[in-house]
Amino acid sequence: MSIDRVVAKMRGGSRLSADEALELYRGAPTSLLGRLADGIRARKHPSHVVTYIIDRNVNYTNICVAKCNFCAFYRPVGSSEGYVLGFDELFRKIDETIAVGGVQLLLQGGHNPDLPLTWYEDLFRAIKSRYPMFKLHALSPPEVIHLSRLSQLPVNAVIARLIDAGLDSIPGGGAEILVDRVRKLLHCYGKASADEWLDVMRLAHRAGLRTTATMMYGTVETDEERIEHLLRLRALQDETGGFTAFIAWSYQPAHTELAGAEATGIDYLRTLAIARIVLDNFDNLQASWVTQGGKVGQLSLAYGANDMGSVMIEENVVRAAGASYCMDEAEIVRNIEDAGFVAKRRNMHYEVLGDPIFREREVPRMLELATARADGDTPVPDELMNYPARSRAGKQLRVISH
Ligand code: SF4
Repeated sequence: MSIDRVVAKMRGGSRLSADEALELYRGAPTSLLGRLADGIRARKHPSHVVTYIIDRNVNYTNICVAKCNFCAFYRPVGSSEGYVLGFDELFRKIDETIAVGGVQLLLQGGHNPDLPLTWYEDLFRAIKSRYPMFKLHALSPPEVIHLSRLSQLPVNAVIARLIDAGLDSIPGGGAEILVDRVRKLLHCYGKASADEWLDVMRLAHRAGLRTTATMMYGTVETDEERIEHLLRLRALQDETGGFTAFIAWSYQPAHTELAGAEATGIDYLRTLAIARIVLDNFDNLQASWVTQGGKVGQLSLAYGANDMGSVMIEENVVRAAGASYCMDEAEIVRNIEDAGFVAKRRNMHYEVLGDPIFREREVPRMLELATARADGDTPVPDELMNYPARSRAGKQLRVISH
């Protein structure tokens, strides 16, 4: 099969098979991949608008029993560097987010055996009663599965309880590569197999939630497995239509057990472009400036992305693995406009909320991303004592703190 035939098929409006997508991914010049992806982006978003969201990426705990070997963020149960954020700390983070025009928290964390489902429910209810309009984009599929196992409730019951407590949408984290051979090598099969990850999203979509989908590439997977990942997402999107967006990011190897090398910017742009081509039923693709930096993030807008993702405010996971790019709203808008697009703020549903907030009112500049913990924060918040611990270390901590 020649590249020309695949391109002709694509231009005729036909969907690509796995073999055709692979042929294109492996063989097409980067400039051609970019042109094809950009054509799709322009057809889906003819208004020349590139969106972004102001939200805050908060990790409520770094204690995790999953121990994925590509993760530099987690700490094992009992570690002196382990933390759980207190409700008050989270309220403070929300206040700071609202001050710069933010509309939601992206709330994810480790699989902490000492945080029962009721802790999440109480937290969500507390947030919603203080900030009724503020959105909770929270708990990736493996976290939902962790809660299902911990509470011994089926996944759909956990989702229903979380929605009842205030969950608005689910982020697509923890997908890595949706192929079990890869997941076993990355020690993340136990937290969620490919089918289990997809099942959580299926159930969430059926329950009326919108979610995103992600891919973390550049570890041990083959090109075929990257394409398989995209095809599995495309199939579920055909079935439910519940994904709002796709985000690809490259593995960050520093301080991880797996180690290895980081994928190049060209690999990122090629992967983004093939995703735009294969995921014909996804409306939105985000640029991953947090792993690629502002310049490649800006270039992404010529390789299929129509969204600059999140202003973010805070980031802990990618930073733990060595990357620490920061862009506040003004910087993101500058990158969008310098690339020739019109910048608009959006919500998680990709509804436009307005022009850049810093042009409407004065907001503080944010030249560094915040971290989860501030000096003086206690690693054991008071309300944690109200919830039973499962781990021995967690039980001891509660006894000592009393
Ligand atoms: S990636 Fe998530 S689930 Fe895996 S070890 Fe890190 S915090 Fe835990």
